[in-house]
Amino acid sequence: MAQPIYVTQPYLPPLEEFTPYLEKIWANKILTNGGPFHQQLEQALCDYLGVKHLALFTNATIALITALQALRITGEVITTPYSFVATAHSLLWNGIKPVFVDVDPRTLNLDPSKIEAAITPQTTAIMPVHVYGHPCDVEAIQKIADNYNLRVIYDAAHAFGVQDAGGSVLRHGDLSVLSFHATKVFNTFEGGAIICPDAKTKMRIDQLKNFGHAGEITVVAPGINGKMSEINAAFGLLQLQHIDQTLALRKEIDATYRELLKDVKGIHCLQDAGEKVANYAYFPILVEADYPISRDELYQKLRDNNIYSRRYFYPLISEFPMYRGLPSAQRDNLPVAFDAAQQVLCLPIYPALEVAHIETIARLIAQ
Ligand SMILES: *Cc1c(COP(=O)(O)O)cnc(C)c1O
Repeated sequence: MAQPIYVTQPYLPPLEEFTPYLEKIWANKILTNGGPFHQQLEQALCDYLGVKHLALFTNATIALITALQALRITGEVITTPYSFVATAHSLLWNGIKPVFVDVDPRTLNLDPSKIEAAITPQTTAIMPVHVYGHPCDVEAIQKIADNYNLRVIYDAAHAFGVQDAGGSVLRHGDLSVLSFHATKVFNTFEGGAIICPDAKTKMRIDQLKNFGHAGEITVVAPGINGKMSEINAAFGLLQLQHIDQTLALRKEIDATYRELLKDVKGIHCLQDAGEKVANYAYFPILVEADYPISRDELYQKLRDNNIYSRRYFYPLISEFPMYRGLPSAQRDNLPVAFDAAQQVLCLPIYPALEVAHIETIARLIAQ
């Protein structure tokens, strides 16, 4: 491969389509603080995603931290080790103790059957992740939350546009958090959002992301600055016009990989979306024991051919120094997550990836 192929490449609409938005900003001199583009994007995303209330943020990490503040979460929170490190970091930034629970081998999402054993009198919430955009077992999680009076905050950073039979997957739990980072399916360069069920919660979140201001001379909480700027919001509005086309391209790439890899012994393509509305954010494969070389050898072989796959999620969050001393971070508590972290490889997937590239990648894996 002459040009390096990375695991992702951000989608950018034609530059000239962005110019009119910039001209508007230059004309009205409103750069941030919930300006017109910010308001328009919140409404446009509610409409597109099919959710009632949404608060834009500067990124998903600040949104996760603020979501925990909004619900006044304290004590211990049950979460997954199999995610990007920001999931658990948002807990530490709030002085909350993460309690890691193992994942379901089929989906690599938090395993509901393991949650109850991890609940203590200090447990106040569950923070699951819709890993790779595959929905969690939301019903089982909600049932446990209801039984034990726990809140549920979904890290939905991967789940833009994902739907189950009842509609957007973002409607589940008390809050869901999206990421619009450059590497995600829908990007605003940097950005994120909290989805919440009612106007009252949205108002508290809006106050918290704006220093706790509730008016010109009133401050009601020790808030943070999490506001999305007008430039990012304007870019989001433009991206929304292209999102259906980019999701369709991702779907085709997913189907091509599945077809080309279906008979390769020792390679397991994770979860087929089937009839559900998926977003094809990632293309994770498991390199199993009967594949001729190890996952890391395959990773290196692809690199040697200028193809940069990624080992999401290896190492597990629970392996990082600020977490690995926790009793719940130990290997015998998380056998499925440890195995997955040793086997997983995310292959390149992005709208501009060409069929010839996919064929080359599949051929390298098959031989
Ligand atoms: C990308 C990501 C985040 C962080 O999102 P930012 O917008 O970069 O702060 C959090 N959780 C998961 C699972 C992610 O993939």
